Amino acid sequence: MTAEFVHSETNRTVHFGRDLLSQAEKLLGADFDDLYLITTERLAEPVDELARRLGVRHAHTQVGAPMHTPVTAIDRALHAFDENGAGSVLAVGGGSVIGLAKALARRRQIPIAAATTTYAGSEMTPVWGETSDGQKTTGRDENVRPRVVIYDVALTETMPLTASVASGFNALAHAMEAMYARDATPVSDAIATRAVANLCASVTTFSEVAGAIETGGQDGHRSLMVVARSQALQGAWLAGHVLGSTTMSLHHKLCHLLGGSYNLPHAETHAVLLPHVLALCAETAPGVYRTFANALQTAAPDAMLHRVATAARVPTTLQQLGVSEDELNALASRLIADTGDRGHYDFDPSLAVTVLRNAWSNP
Ligand code: NAD
Repeated sequence: MTAEFVHSETNRTVHFGRDLLSQAEKLLGADFDDLYLITTERLAEPVDELARRLGVRHAHTQVGAPMHTPVTAIDRALHAFDENGAGSVLAVGGGSVIGLAKALARRRQIPIAAATTTYAGSEMTPVWGETSDGQKTTGRDENVRPRVVIYDVALTETMPLTASVASGFNALAHAMEAMYARDATPVSDAIATRAVANLCASVTTFSEVAGAIETGGQDGHRSLMVVARSQALQGAWLAGHVLGSTTMSLHHKLCHLLGGSYNLPHAETHAVLLPHVLALCAETAPGVYRTFANALQTAAPDAMLHRVATAARVPTTLQQLGVSEDELNALASRLIADTGDRGHYDFDPSLAVTVLRNAWSNP
């Protein structure tokens, strides 16, 4: 039988390099005027300098964006955006900052740009997510996909090693789901495979360096880290790319359910679930399992990811994240009820119970 695919691409410009934030005013195209800058406290100073260089192109700077994009935060940002006559957005931060920029794009149909500081990958996708009354809703809208993306490796170097491993696992989860997605194509597969190779290599380095530092071996890691940081950011780009072009499944649905219900940290929730969903792949998606096995050079990649997380002190159980065991069945039932028809998922959603139970205690 002849294979059939639809592979769509959207126009956008990606700048990859080092110290690019200091040239952002040049990298943003002519569409970026009356700029509303969103960032975090940590980057307030360089973003202030950027605002000065932008001059009349700068409308306002917002510092701070809460996790999971609550609608209350969106309303406040919309008010400031309108008050200041803004017409475009540059988000400088992780997925939370970019999420708020996307919420503005969705409501005001304006162009947005993103300079990411983590490996969450939101800058590559048309996916938006918002939280209201403990429920996280996600959707797709091409208008929220950033038109200019700045990958400045220097912005990621301040991320602590534990957070870097967790964020790398978040990106690995994007690549994993893209590979078993029912709308995967040879292009998305190739990109996801490269993402897995990059990210497995970099999270392993982060974890080894974290372990070495803990035992007093501070030296000799600089050159390893330079390579790993660049490799991780490229992996995050590729993983975000395939997240944006394929349909999310069991893993992401579980993470959104947990994140929305308990306001759990996003990357750590992905990190806890990833080895358990990957373990299912040994039976249900053996090609995906093999790709991880090759990248990690082991026959049991799920166990290896668990070791990488443990050595970097990334949480490995839902129990550690504060989820109560009593609520697991109700969570799984909510996921199953939400899915409606089973065919929507590449995995049988009843497997959610198995994943949640294993992820709760890591037996
Ligand atoms: P985040 O943006 O909330 O950042 C986590 C923490 O790390 C924050 O305290 C932040 O200030 C800090 N931080 C970020 N970068 C840092 C750096 N370089 N150095 C030091 N500290 C740093 O977390 P995230 O994991 O990037 O994003 C999570 C959010 O993004 C969630 O709301 C999630 O739903 C969303 N997301 C959306 C998509 C999408 O396609 N729509 C994809 C992935 C994630």
